[in-house]
Amino acid sequence: MTKRAFPLPVLHEPHRHDGAVDHAKAAAEFLADEARADWHDGALWWIREKRDRATEALPEWEQLRALASEIKEHTLSRLDEYLEQFEANATRNGITVHWARDADEHNRIVHGILEAADVRRLVKSKSMLTEECGLNPYLEARGVEVVDTDLGERIVQLRGEAPSHIVMPAIHLKKQDVGDTFHEHLGTPAGLADPQALTEAARVHLREKFLAADAALTGVNFAIAETGGFVVCTNEGNADLGTALAPVYVASFGIEKLIPRASDLGVFLRLLTRSATGQPVTVYSSHVHGPRDGQALHVVLVDNGRSVQLGREGFWRSLKCIRCGACMNTCPVYRRSGGHSYDSTVPGPIGSVLTPGLDLARYATLPFASTLCGSCTAVCPVMIDLDAQLYRWRQLVTAAGHAPPGKALVMRATSAVLGRPWLFRAAGAVARAGLRVLPRRLQRAASGAWGVARDLPEPPPQSFRAWYEANRPNEKPKDNSRH
Ligand code: SF4
Repeated sequence: MTKRAFPLPVLHEPHRHDGAVDHAKAAAEFLADEARADWHDGALWWIREKRDRATEALPEWEQLRALASEIKEHTLSRLDEYLEQFEANATRNGITVHWARDADEHNRIVHGILEAADVRRLVKSKSMLTEECGLNPYLEARGVEVVDTDLGERIVQLRGEAPSHIVMPAIHLKKQDVGDTFHEHLGTPAGLADPQALTEAARVHLREKFLAADAALTGVNFAIAETGGFVVCTNEGNADLGTALAPVYVASFGIEKLIPRASDLGVFLRLLTRSATGQPVTVYSSHVHGPRDGQALHVVLVDNGRSVQLGREGFWRSLKCIRCGACMNTCPVYRRSGGHSYDSTVPGPIGSVLTPGLDLARYATLPFASTLCGSCTAVCPVMIDLDAQLYRWRQLVTAAGHAPPGKALVMRATSAVLGRPWLFRAAGAVARAGLRVLPRRLQRAASGAWGVARDLPEPPPQSFRAWYEANRPNEKPKDNSRH
C-alpha cells in the first residue's frame, strides 16, 4: 500500500496550455548531438566542481546553509507582515510600490508605467521573472523596444531563444554559435570566435542601447523588509549602468524574495555566488534604497502562483529558492538534457518543483525528469528538499491521471506482480527464460526507452530464492505472502 505522508493539496491551475511538455522527447533531441551534449555536461560539472572548492573553503558552510534556511522559512511563515513592512518602508523611501496578482497584471502595470513616461526603449537586466511573465513580447507588441543587457541574455534574445539556465542563459551555446549570431545581427566578421573580441563587440552594441534607453528594468535578488530597499547582484555591471542612466527604473520581483533585516544579507550573499559559480562574491552587489534625484523608481511585487505554492503542504519550502542554479549544475538529467528540454522559465530540479503548480497537465513530465539521486538537495544553499518534492509531484501527477497511459499501465501491472509473491516468482521465471532466448533487439524493445541505451544483464541460472534454498538449507527465507 502506498503511504502518503501528507494530504494531497487542491491544485490551482490558472494557465491552461495546449500541448503538454514531453521532456523525454526534447531530451532525446538534445542528446542527438552527442558531442554538444558531452560538452554541456562537462561545462556544468566544471562549475559544480568550482562550487565544491568554494564551499569547502568555508568551514562554516553548513551553518550558513542552516541559517539561510531558517531565515527563509521564518520569512515565509510571516510573509504577509514582511511584505507590508517592505511596502511601508519602500514608500517612505520615495519608491512607488505596485502589486501584481499574476503575469498579465504585472505586464499591464509595467506597460502603464512606461506609457505614462512615454518610454519607447527599455533596457532590462537580471530578471527571470519577466521571462516568466512574458514581458518582452507583451511590450514589443505595444511598440516598446526591449533589450536584454546581460551578455548571455542578449545572445539568446538575438537568436530568438529562451534562456536555458537561470544564471548562465546561453550555457547551451559554444563560442562559435555566438560568433555566428553576432555576425548575423551585429555585423562582426564571419567566423569570429574569440571570446574577448565577441565580448567587446557586445559591449559596443549594448553601450548604444544603454545611452538611448528611456527606462531600465531589473529583477531583484533580495528585498529587505526592514529598510524598504533591495539588492541586485550582477557580474557585468549592466544593471547598474542601465539604472544609473535611465530616468525611469522599474524593479520587478516575486514576493518570495523578501528577507527581514539588512543584517541577514551577509548570509545570503556569501551563499549565493559560491553556489552559483564558485566565486566568493558577485562582482556587483548593488543596494538600492530609493530613486536617484529626478528618477522615478517603481517596484512591482508579483505573486503569479506563489501564494498558492506557499499554501501547498509539502511544497511551500520551494519558495526559499534564491535562484543560484546549483541544483541544475549538479543534476545528471539537466546536464544531459539541456535547459530547453524543460520548456519552462526555470528548468532543472527547482523548475520541476515550481512549474507543475502552474499547470499540472502541461508540465506533468517534469517531476519525472530526475533520477531522485538527491544531489540537488545536497548542494542547495537554502536546504530545499528538492528530491522529496519531486517525488511528491509524481504522486500528484499520477493521482490526477496525467501519467502517460503506458507508464500508468506498467505501474499497475508492477504493483499487481509485486503484491503477489507467487506471481512475482512466476514473472521472474518468465523473465529469465525471455532473457535467455529472445534476441537483444526484442529485449530492448520490451524494456522501452529505459532499454535504448542499456544492455540487459545475463540472466542468472536460478532465482535468488532457489539459490538460497540450495545454499542455506537450514535458514528458511521469510515468506511474506501472508503479510
Ligand atoms: S533550489 Fe536551491 S540549488 Fe536550486 S536554484 Fe534554488 S537555491 Fe539554488
